[in-house]
Order: sequence, then C-alpha cells, then structure tokens
Amino acid sequence: MEFIREYADWFYLIGAVLFILTLRGLSGPKTAIQGNRYGMIAMAIAVITTFFVADHPVVWMIGGAMVLGAVVGIARARTVPMTQMPETVALMHSLVGLAAVLIAIAAILHNNQLTALFAENESALTAAGVQHAHMSSVHLFELFVGCFVGAITFTASVFAYGKLAAKKWAKTISGAWVKPVQALIFLAMLACGIYFFTTGNMNAFWAMTALALAFGWVWIAPVGGGDMPVVVSLLNSFSGWAAAGIGFTLENNMLIVAGSLVGSSGAILSYIMCKAMNRSIINVLFGGAMGGTAVAAADKGEQAQRNHRSGSADDAGFLMSNADSVVIVPGYGMAQGRAQNAVKELCEILKEQGVKVRFAIHPVAGRMPGHMNVLLAEADVAYEDILEMDEINSDFPATDVVLVIGANDVVNPAAKDDPTSPIYGMPILEAHKARTIMVIKRSMATGYAGLDNDLFYNEKTMMIFGDAKKVVEDMTKAINGGGH
Ligand code: NDP
Repeated sequence: MEFIREYADWFYLIGAVLFILTLRGLSGPKTAIQGNRYGMIAMAIAVITTFFVADHPVVWMIGGAMVLGAVVGIARARTVPMTQMPETVALMHSLVGLAAVLIAIAAILHNNQLTALFAENESALTAAGVQHAHMSSVHLFELFVGCFVGAITFTASVFAYGKLAAKKWAKTISGAWVKPVQALIFLAMLACGIYFFTTGNMNAFWAMTALALAFGWVWIAPVGGGDMPVVVSLLNSFSGWAAAGIGFTLENNMLIVAGSLVGSSGAILSYIMCKAMNRSIINVLFGGAMGGTAVAAADKGEQAQRNHRSGSADDAGFLMSNADSVVIVPGYGMAQGRAQNAVKELCEILKEQGVKVRFAIHPVAGRMPGHMNVLLAEADVAYEDILEMDEINSDFPATDVVLVIGANDVVNPAAKDDPTSPIYGMPILEAHKARTIMVIKRSMATGYAGLDNDLFYNEKTMMIFGDAKKVVEDMTKAINGGGH
C-alpha cells in the first residue's frame, strides 16, 4: 500500500488520461462503449488511490458510504426506464452539488476546531515548536466558491428534477418580481461570501450558503419547459466545477482534473444545444419562461376547428413499401412507447423491399441530449443510417415518405414560419417538405412546449393514431402480409 501512496500522482495522471479518452470515446456511437470502459477504469483508479492517500481514513464510514451508494446506484440503474433518465441525471447532479457544500462545511469546521484546540494549548504547543497553519486566503476563496456553486447546483438540480418528473412542487414562477428578487438574493449571497472570505465570520458563511440554496431555486424556476435541455446540460457543467472546487479544497489533483473535464464538456454541450435551439445562454437563463403554454392555450380554440386526415397502419405500410425513400423522425413518443425495437424491425422489412430508409435526429428530440441515438443504438440500428439535422434537412424535398414517430416540437414548422411562436427561430427537421408525411401519435395533443403543430393539418399529412409500438408493429405486419 506504501507503493500506491508513493506513486499516487502517477496513478492520478493515468486516471486523468483515461478520463480524457473516455470523453473522446463518448463523442461517437461506435467508440462509446470503449469510452465507458475507460471511464470505469479511471474511476476505480481514482477511488482506490484516494483511499490509500488519505491520512487517517475512517474505513467503516467510507466503506459503508460506498456500499450504500453502490446499492442505490445499481438498483436505480437497473430499474430506471429510459424516459426517466433526464430527471435521474438531474438528481445525480444535485448530489454532486450537495457533496461540494458538505465538504466545504466539513473543511471549515475542521479548521475551526484545530484553531480552537491550538488556542487552548497555545503555550505548550508553541514551546514544543508546533505552529498552527491558518487557512490561507486562497483556500478560503476556494471554499467560498466551491460552496456557493455547489449550493446553487443542488437546489437548481432538485428543481430541474421536479420539473422533468412533472412534480407538483416544481412550479414555474413568473412575474415582474422574479428578476429583482433573483438579483437581490445573488448580491446578498456575494456580499455574505465576501464578508466571510475577508473575516472568516461563520455567520456570514451560513448566510451565504442559505442564500445560494435559495438562489439556485429562484434562478431555475422561471426557465420555460422548452429550455430545460439546456438547463440540465448547464447543471451538468456546474456540478463539474463544484467538484473541481472540492478538488482544490481537498488538494486532490484527480478531482480537479475530472471536475474540470465535466465542467468544460458540460459548458460546450450547453453551447451546442443553445445553437441547435437558436437561443443564447443568457436568454435561456435570464430571459424568463418561453411563454409557450400561454400561446398554446390561446391557440387551442382556433385549432380545434381545423381538419386533419387520418389513416390506418395498413394504408401507411402499403404506401411505405411502395416508396423509394423513407425518412423516420423519432421523438419523445418513441421513447415513451418503447417502440425502438419495433421501429428497427420495420426499417429492416422496408429495406428488404428495396426502400432506402434513414433516420433523422434532432439534437433536442426526446427528453435528454442524445436520447434518440441511445434508443436506436439499443435497438441495433446501423449508425450510418442515422443522420443529424444538418445532414438530412436538404434531403426532405426529395423524400417520398417521412414517418414521424412520436415527435412534435422538433418538426413544428411554426419555428420557421411564425414569428409570434415561442419556438420561432429554433431549427427543425423540415419534414413538411417531404412528398408524404405520416405521423404516429395517440391524439392531437401538444408536445413538450405545449404548442399546436401545423404539420398535423398539412394536406400531405396522414395521422395514424395509436401507441407508437403497436402502430409500428401493425405497419410491419401489413407490409409482411402485403409485400410488393
Ligand atoms: P414532443 O414532446 O414535442 O412530442 C412528443 C409527442 O409524442 C407528443 O405530442 C405525444 O402526443 C407523442 N407521444 C407520447 N407518447 C406516445 C406514445 N406512447 N405513442 C405515440 N406517441 C406518443 O417531443 P419531441 O421529441 O418532438 O421534442 C422534444 C421536446 O422536449 C422539445 O420541446 C425539447 O425542447 C424538449 N426537451 C428536450 C430535452 C432533451 O434534452 N432532448 C430535455 C427536456 C425537454 P400524444 O400525447 O398525442 O401521443
């Protein structure tokens, strides 16, 4: 074990390199599994090394916490349905934030205890040549930043969890009072933090922590539903910075590197998602709610009068098997209906009939970044058949049939044509340009942003009502039965 202690920095370096390889691996579906493996090895190296580097580890406490964490983690990982992944991820970020806060508190209390002990026995200790090393201002600053970033991450993530899981307590707040209250809490938090930083006053520290907790909540609560993907990814980034902050507090290089990697990759992902939704990060975080629900509610009366055309799975199967090219646009409904395997089967049967089948993926389809890619990979759909929005959009006009499976917002033409729409400006999959459009969903209900969708009333569109899995299976049966 002395060996691990002596070469701890080398182990950390190996761990850090493996974490970088993990991120590299996760950037493509083909290398993602290997990337995950690197991540697991890196994490094992990090945990084992840290265990032996600690001065006087309380083994039963650390072991107990690890066993408890592993049991909860494994149980949750085995039972969580794919559709609940986003809220699970948000909840995990909240734990990273909470850990940062607790470690900052522990480090400060520990230091206070040492100072008190030293003061009690000052003469004897000084005579023996022992000096009490006071916390440096750099150290205090790390604690101050780590603690408030952690506290904001904690409550903001709990709110994001509640919102994504549609909990009653996670209510969106709005009104003219929101921004001044946000600013007030933020400034008060900074003032308390600076006071603590300059004087070491503990009351200021507690007040700063409480205000940061409150700020996390009021900061995220006004964010509109449609912007939640960016928020989740931004909180991911925050949890990384909070972890890096703890790394400085604990003087643990591994944690600093891993935290910074999570922090910066989360920030890059947030930027990419903002670009995909044509929003600026400032607008998402401080622009207030998108107002989607209000507009949708106002529109509903008018939309109810409009006509749509519906058809059966058999009709759709027949049309698709006679087409030259079909593009499948999956959305949240495919995840909700667990239809991915049925979709893969439909894709295979169409290919057997000589139809060119491809998948078009919108960056915010589903409820988490990469949601559709994960599901299609799970169903073993060939990667080369899966195209991103920019790659496929120009192909829609020459496509015979677009099959939209449980997608709604990501194919809503209002984002392009209607400047009054709350999602105006968001790039969409231009399914409306195809020769024929088929939409599988259970009703005419709106999607996540709460907006009606002109695509469903388009004269080229055929609605096929029903659960995604059942309808897709029926289509496959129809093609199997009918053939060319
Ligand atoms: P939407 O939420 O816009 O629409 C999904 C549609 O699927 C609904 O209209 C619903 O209609 C239908 N549906 C639900 N269940 C089923 C089922 N079992 N069978 C068939 N249809 C079903 O999804 P999109 O993927 O188009 O868009 C994603 C939205 O989610 C965007 O607004 C995005 O901003 C947001 N978001 C994205 C996140 C991300 O990271 N990707 C995270 C959080 C939010 P019906 O009820 O009639 O069946």
